[in-house]
Amino acid sequence: MAETEKAGGPVSLGYDDVLRWIQSFAAEVDANKEQLTQLDAAIGDGDHGINMQRGMSAVLGKVDETNEDIGALLKTVGMTLVSTVGGAGGPLYGTLFLQMGTAVSGKAELGPDDWAAALEAAIAGVQARGKAEPGDKTMIDALIPGRDALKAALAEGATFEDALRRSADAAGKGMRDTVPLVARKGRASYLGERSAGHQDPGATSSHLLLEAAAETWARPEQAG
Ligand code: ADP
Ligand code: MG
Repeated sequence: MAETEKAGGPVSLGYDDVLRWIQSFAAEVDANKEQLTQLDAAIGDGDHGINMQRGMSAVLGKVDETNEDIGALLKTVGMTLVSTVGGAGGPLYGTLFLQMGTAVSGKAELGPDDWAAALEAAIAGVQARGKAEPGDKTMIDALIPGRDALKAALAEGATFEDALRRSADAAGKGMRDTVPLVARKGRASYLGERSAGHQDPGATSSHLLLEAAAETWARPEQAG
């Protein structure tokens, strides 16, 4: 963010910033692996933590630190997740990153509106693939509030940093709001009413994704 950073915080993201976000999401997934596993054990098959951890660790071995095309970086993340993670989560997160990469194809820098468009495309991809609507108790229930809060904040003239914070907070609320919901998509839907009373694992990892963006991009790159 160095070149374009102003008193109001970052106004655009470079390749390195996006790479730092991917690395930070991988670290968050790793740190929260047990929680994701326990949440999925309650209403699924207990593999969401290990699935995401395995996928993101493969991603870390694949990403190119010397490239410039942010779209290509995100597509590599998506393809790696699709090819290394089974179940529903892998293809859905794979689609999320592939569509994000397509939305910003060829760009070496992302402004706030580019990020909003990337998130928009990511969600459209996940919904096209998984057919989940808000309230179905899936990752969509964290992602859509996150996208909407980002766009609302930018429309009000908030700084990018504030908009990212509001986006992550809204995703966190959306994640917590999955607790009383009855699952209508994925493995948890097999439980019917018994899925109520548990937080959705995919909404939890999607909150981590947007939280990692807010935290990583609020800080300039550390030297070394
Ligand atoms: P699996 O259910 O195959 O074991 P994971 O455990 O990795 O896959 O991921 C489970 C998460 O995937 C759920 O918590 C939910 O958020 C998300 N999910 C499942 N089906 C869908 C869908 N159709 N659309 C969106 N998200 C979904
Ligand atoms: Mg599972």
